[in-house]
Amino acid sequence: MHGTMSRILIATDLHQRAVLYDALVKLAAEVKPDAIILGGDFLHHTGLQPYGSTPQLTPTQCAEELQAIAAQLLFVRGNHEDENWFEFRDAWKSLRISAPVRLNGSFSMIGGVGVVGFPCFMGYQQPFSEGEPLGGEHYQYWFRHLFAEHGGDALRLWIMHEPPTGTQLSEAGSPVEGNAWWRDAIEEHQPELVVCGHDHTTPLSRGVWLDQIGRTNVINVGQNMDGPLHATLVTCEGSGRLQFEKLVMA
Ligand SMILES: [Zn+2]
Ligand SMILES: [Zn+2]
Repeated sequence: MHGTMSRILIATDLHQRAVLYDALVKLAAEVKPDAIILGGDFLHHTGLQPYGSTPQLTPTQCAEELQAIAAQLLFVRGNHEDENWFEFRDAWKSLRISAPVRLNGSFSMIGGVGVVGFPCFMGYQQPFSEGEPLGGEHYQYWFRHLFAEHGGDALRLWIMHEPPTGTQLSEAGSPVEGNAWWRDAIEEHQPELVVCGHDHTTPLSRGVWLDQIGRTNVINVGQNMDGPLHATLVTCEGSGRLQFEKLVMA
């Protein structure tokens, strides 16, 4: 892998906003990543009021928008993916033949970088799980299998919709403060880099998008429902450390 560069673009919390999907397509064309990971809430649970004021796409239209992206796309679940997943999945399949790739308590090698996509146990997760239960919600039920199989590659890049609790990147005591077990997982395993979302506003209102838990860097770039898009680009040269930057696209 020496001399090869891996580039992974990550965005969370698009919530079916047309302006954010448009910006993602533009950003993907500019950055030309190897892969794009959407870290949950790319759809918007229909029982709730839409966030923001700009137009919202349907799940089918979201799949159609993403057709313009050449890079491989991978999907991590947020609390807003419920039965709307079926409409998105079926639209995707009809456009691309293959099913959308999920990272749901599972591992993928992207270029030279091992990636773990965490599940999200908030909301109604059965549709996204596609009949593949993980055995339990605690990370010890499912992560230990990934670690046993992939070793250090499973300790590079973790994508989780809910932030770990107790960082500057989410509001303590609020519904979006995050998941205490995910913090335990980070403290126990010390992955190189964690990217999360779910709390859209705290990183932007505080102007802080990077924090540390031990040796682990944790990123939440936040999201504005009416744009511009906030995203993270993770790059890795050969077998070196992961580099990361925040990107904003109107
Ligand atoms: Zn969200
Ligand atoms: Zn969320």
